[in-house]
Amino acid sequence: MEHNLRVYNTLTRQKEPFKTVEPGKVGMYVCGPTVYKPSHLGHMVGPVIFDTVKRYLTYLGYEVKFVVNITDVDDKLIIEAPRQGISVSDLAERVTRDYVENLTKLNVTSIDLMPRATHHIGDIIEIIQGLITKGFAYPAAGDVYFDVTKDDDYGKLCNRDPEQLEAGARIEVSEKKRSPGDFALWKAAKPGEPAWDSPWGKGRPGWHIECSAMSTKLLGKTLDIHGGGLDLQFPHHENELAQSESYNGCTFANFWMHNGLMRIHSQASKIKDAKPRDDEPQKMSKSLGNEIVVHKLFERGIQPETLRFFLLATHYRRPIDYSEERLAEVGRGLDGFYRFFERFERINNKRNFYQPLPANVARGAGREGEFAVLRKRFLEHMDDDFNTGGAVGVLYELLTALNRFADAKQLEIGKGTADDVKAFEDGVIYLKELSQILGVFEKRPEEVKTDNASQQLVGGLMQLLIDLRAEARKAKNFALGDQIRKRLSELGVTLEDRAGGTNWRKD
Ligand SMILES: [Zn+2]
Repeated sequence: MEHNLRVYNTLTRQKEPFKTVEPGKVGMYVCGPTVYKPSHLGHMVGPVIFDTVKRYLTYLGYEVKFVVNITDVDDKLIIEAPRQGISVSDLAERVTRDYVENLTKLNVTSIDLMPRATHHIGDIIEIIQGLITKGFAYPAAGDVYFDVTKDDDYGKLCNRDPEQLEAGARIEVSEKKRSPGDFALWKAAKPGEPAWDSPWGKGRPGWHIECSAMSTKLLGKTLDIHGGGLDLQFPHHENELAQSESYNGCTFANFWMHNGLMRIHSQASKIKDAKPRDDEPQKMSKSLGNEIVVHKLFERGIQPETLRFFLLATHYRRPIDYSEERLAEVGRGLDGFYRFFERFERINNKRNFYQPLPANVARGAGREGEFAVLRKRFLEHMDDDFNTGGAVGVLYELLTALNRFADAKQLEIGKGTADDVKAFEDGVIYLKELSQILGVFEKRPEEVKTDNASQQLVGGLMQLLIDLRAEARKAKNFALGDQIRKRLSELGVTLEDRAGGTNWRKD
């Protein structure tokens, strides 16, 4: 396949010409969330980036299979579920739904499969058993551990030897381990925990092994691209790599791509209990308490497209600094595009900007002129390790050039010649073509805004009912309180009373 795409590979620490195991096909695996709390903005970075990576590879002519896993059994879920008074599987289901809804809003539409760890326990056990047989793993009192001393190139993804790795990371301490860097493939069940039968007794899989099992099962022994956040490089990806290569005896992933993390200034988080820290932006995470919950942003009226554009405006390997001001600035930038699309529809007198463009329509070679030059520059940025930040910059330049052209040729007042109009339309087709690569401008903003506005209204009405019910109960009018709950339940809405207030959800 002819193209100039170069991709930065974490494993080799350089950009390499992109090539695939099978000609024309790409298998891409990206580590997804542990589903124990609603998604925060940091969780959306990887999906938006890799959805765009898939869009570009598809544009180049590849057939891409894109898998994102869901970790639906883990210590975090086991701790959180009883707090909410529900089962681990119900919690996983609810949080997965929130995750998928957010992805849909952000137009992350290209994921082919979202396998759940608990649906692959048999595959996981098979690999663990194989690793024991080959001498890479050992059972120890109901657990099974991977023996890092048996794996000669352990540490190669991070370019460090095992002792250095251990020094820099939180490593679970256990007397059952032979050496401290060994990690659990299987964990014996404690009473009350979700558990599956295994040759080592009842237990559950460790976190790393699920990705090795599901990626091999769904995409084969060698992945073309393995993606994930930079924070997963160690220990998660290092361990996935060790397990998979020890078990399969071949390269696990040809390209390792790591996206930068979302950061936030503590002042910007506006979260009540966030501790004041110095001015350095910090990683957004649940443990630091500075997370921005995605569905709450949407409920506040932030447009999903603004968020997507914001996430793509930085190079994916750099950290993304979140601020309300930056988001507002991106929103104003998008308004400039929307105004131009209206202008275009006035000029060509058809309401067709938002119709999807047939594939290849703009790919004819030999076109020249300012618009074609900009299009070429956009594609050069994408070829340079998916530099969406550079590409977004060129999209703005193209917008400016098109507006300037329409002004100069007086297209709006019908003074332009047929040739001018044709040149203008070709430029707009480029703009449309390139926007599709970024996954933006596929719907009229009015449509999206209407969806969001009704969602905001529902959110407001629900809060009103919750407050009225709380007042009724305070006034010992329990009959009214119960009636509100019952009537809502008839509408498929469940109220959940918790220490911090009442939440609602629609089934
Ligand atoms: Zn993983």
